[in-house]
Amino acid sequence: MTENLLNFDAAQMTAWFAEQGEKPFRAKQVLRWLHKAGESDFDAMSDLALSLREKLKLTAYVKSPQVMREETATDGTHKWLLDVGTGNAVETVFIPETDRGTLCVSTQAGCALDCAFCSTGKQGFNRNLSVAEIIGQLWWANRELGKGEDGHWPITNVVLMGMGEPLLNFDNTVSALRLMLDDNAYGLSRRRVTVSTSGIVPAMDRLRDECPVALAVSLHAPNDALRNVLVPVNQKYPLRELMSACRRYLEKAPRDFVTFEYVMLEGVNDSVQQARELIDLVREVPCKFNLIPFNPFPQAPYKRSDMQTVMRFRDVLMQGDIVTTIRKVRGDDIAAACGQLAGKVQDKTKRTHRLTEVV
Ligand code: SAH
Ligand code: SF4
Repeated sequence: MTENLLNFDAAQMTAWFAEQGEKPFRAKQVLRWLHKAGESDFDAMSDLALSLREKLKLTAYVKSPQVMREETATDGTHKWLLDVGTGNAVETVFIPETDRGTLCVSTQAGCALDCAFCSTGKQGFNRNLSVAEIIGQLWWANRELGKGEDGHWPITNVVLMGMGEPLLNFDNTVSALRLMLDDNAYGLSRRRVTVSTSGIVPAMDRLRDECPVALAVSLHAPNDALRNVLVPVNQKYPLRELMSACRRYLEKAPRDFVTFEYVMLEGVNDSVQQARELIDLVREVPCKFNLIPFNPFPQAPYKRSDMQTVMRFRDVLMQGDIVTTIRKVRGDDIAAACGQLAGKVQDKTKRTHRLTEVV
């Protein structure tokens, strides 16, 4: 069987090379060619013995997901629609800023958690992405954008905030994270790699132990009654447990706070009273808040809170000593903003036999 080398983190690459009777430093060389140089052609890997290059051509290949469509927004945001086979596509978004470049990466085709305000959730779940499909988004986007004059790749930060729940595709997500952090691959600092989760409590503990990176938690409601509706997985992992998991995470996290994401839905979760309730809820968790203006999609059951309401909400949190930012809406004109990533997903869970396309 031939292997896609983008599927391996450093330990897996070493193990695979050992199976081929090759030394560990060969694995390191290949890792560097693939991820540091962005090379996919074994013939170009000039410091490998000719015999090894010939062998690799027979036993291995390098393949990231194919691009089906590419769009650029007026603010410079790029969105790529990637084919992940059997009628499924996922999206990757690059957000350029003056001092950094952030890639928003998907981890699943669709999502099973069905949050009420999320377009991905409305598509249902199809499958987990492989390591090659997750890291392939970074590998491919870097190659596509090209190294800067300083010789560095343009992507300096990665957020796992695209389609899917990263912690429900745990093993593949962690291998991809390890490659992002590995000095022989992307060498990003743990602070520049963020996992966003809807709050899968046991997996948050595993992430803390196995690969702690910056953590964002999608909160969206100040109490269980409302969160059960907006983020149904709350019925399984209610707020009290989630808050404890955040505290435990911070024992090993690279940053000394958790970022709570909070999508602002008009008349649903945006009142002054609810902001006060939030302050009580997070009292024991060092945190920052990021308020996200709701991004509409076809048939969305909610409206975006107006800016005045969002700013009033922020002010109440700030008076409660919580650092609060309001997320800038990026890539609005190409539906590249949070929660608008829908791709094209064949639904095998709730809404069977239906193919939906909302891009
Ligand atoms: N499944 C993970 C990561 C992907 S979603 C999670 O839920 O955290 C990334 C972020 O986009 C989450 O904070 C999510 O709540 C938010 N989001 C989803 N739909 C949105 C929408 N329509 N408008 C604004 N933000 C949305
Ligand atoms: Fe899934 Fe996150 Fe969307 Fe909820 S917000 S449905 S967890 S992708």
